Amino acid sequence: MKALSVLLVLLIGSSLIAQKTPDTSPNAAEIAKMAARFAPTEIKVDISKLSAGDRKALSKLVEAARVIDDIFLTQFWAGNHDVYQKLQADQTPLGRARLHYFWINKGPWSEIDGYKAFLPDVPPTKLPGANFYPADMTKAEFEAWVKTLPAEQQRQVTGFFTVVQREPATKKLTLIPYSEAYAPDLDRAGGLLREAAGLTDNASLNRFLTTRAAAFESNDYYESDVAWMELDSPIDLTLGPYETYNDELFGYKAAFEAYVTLRDEAETAKVQSFAARMQDVENNLPIEKKYKNPKLGATAPIRVVNEVFASGDGNHGVQTAAYNLPNDEKITTERGTKRVMLKNVQQAKFDKILLPIARRLLTPAAQKEVEFETFFTHILAHEMTHGIGPHQIKIGERATSPRQELKELYSAIEEAKADVTGLYMLQHLLDRERNGKSAAGAPASAEQKRLYTTYLASAFRSLRFGTQDAHAKGMAVQFNYISDKGGFVARPDGRYEVDFRHIQAAVRELNHDLLTLEATGDYAGAKKLLDDLGTIRPGTRQSLDRLQDLPTDIEPVFVTADQMSAPPPGAPGAAAPQAQSKARRKRPQR
Ligand code: ZN
Repeated sequence: MKALSVLLVLLIGSSLIAQKTPDTSPNAAEIAKMAARFAPTEIKVDISKLSAGDRKALSKLVEAARVIDDIFLTQFWAGNHDVYQKLQADQTPLGRARLHYFWINKGPWSEIDGYKAFLPDVPPTKLPGANFYPADMTKAEFEAWVKTLPAEQQRQVTGFFTVVQREPATKKLTLIPYSEAYAPDLDRAGGLLREAAGLTDNASLNRFLTTRAAAFESNDYYESDVAWMELDSPIDLTLGPYETYNDELFGYKAAFEAYVTLRDEAETAKVQSFAARMQDVENNLPIEKKYKNPKLGATAPIRVVNEVFASGDGNHGVQTAAYNLPNDEKITTERGTKRVMLKNVQQAKFDKILLPIARRLLTPAAQKEVEFETFFTHILAHEMTHGIGPHQIKIGERATSPRQELKELYSAIEEAKADVTGLYMLQHLLDRERNGKSAAGAPASAEQKRLYTTYLASAFRSLRFGTQDAHAKGMAVQFNYISDKGGFVARPDGRYEVDFRHIQAAVRELNHDLLTLEATGDYAGAKKLLDDLGTIRPGTRQSLDRLQDLPTDIEPVFVTADQMSAPPPGAPGAAAPQAQSKARRKRPQR
């Protein structure tokens, strides 16, 4: 008994000590090292070709997008604004480092470290329901509550644009529309959108801005989503509640984000010229004729833009390089979706990540062939070729689709297919330029050298993400298949290059195999391919290990936007926080 009480005393004592454990969160140097994985990169756009009205509108839109940061901070975590204000008041080197990394993550958790907290006195990781639901609500409580609601409220509570809170008095769950939950911020943002609408001379932009500002008040986004699909303007804007990834409880709730961008006219023309040639590419795919589609339908529109500013859910952790919206099924069934590609963000990632990878892993001669224009054209080709190849298939008499048949394997197979079909397409267009004369056996042209070598370098970039990601798994299949066929070669010094005697045939054969797996809905065959080749082999692993100190992603420094309005504390390019900044940045009504 006595021994037991001694033990109890010891246990209690040790738990007291545990409570007093000094702060183990990372110090200033450690946080700086974490932040250094994001290479600061200037994001600039030439706005000189905009009309005078559009230039003024753009400045208002950047301001509106800065309000979106405020809304997203609220949505991400209930404690975010308090922590952010405290960090602004902390002038120590540790405080500065924390503020900077907080702004990269838009919260106290390091996203690329599995949302591990880097600040003391905060939850150890991101809350699964973010701030869309009460922190103490369980899934079971929510589901039981939903069953008690009338049908229309059930629709809203599982919809995009409401939050669930507890009534202060009764602690019962209650439903709040975004228009109420974020009213002061939405008023500010909506006012700025209306000001911009009054300044632009583009009718479709005016319509999107006015309908979106109205949606902030009515909480009905349908009309403004339609206006977004029809937006045809030098200023391209995405601003509102969209993606649901932050709601890890249910995936219902949309986070606010903004991308203020300018349309890239040259690339938009390139997309159109590709679109006109897709039937010819389909007709020449390396599969049996019976699997080809003699009449392709309309393809989903692709917009190429350059980013002036991104905020909220569109600017935390790893930067968005392309997005597909909207998510609302009513719109997507009626009108499909629009894919927006952020060209200058892709260029920034290319410069800061892909080129350093190439310098380390390619032979000196191969390094010279790695080029951004080719990289970006291949990304475009990848997107376009998602639209060709087998989509409606028949197994016996049963009409089905590759997605239904390949199930959880489909993403990796389809991503690999788009990569190699994109390569195949660009090779086909090069051959067409030579008037159909086959170049087999001829020495590689300058374009071919750039195409296949840039593809090799980008393979390493994808493989770095690990094969749990569908793109990376699909890339492992490609890398191993092409290496086995002699298309990629590792030199004795561990550097890689393309063997142009074998690369075209390897790509063609792999393309044939992938397209045939889809055309026949061959689950077993897809599984075998992924099991055999969808892995990172020891030699490749060694090469990837040599990339560990290279940045993971970029940290955008919005030079053009920051000239229009000053960035907030913690953002790169912002002035060091001053003592009065706390008062200056005080948020309305919170
Ligand atoms: Zn894809």
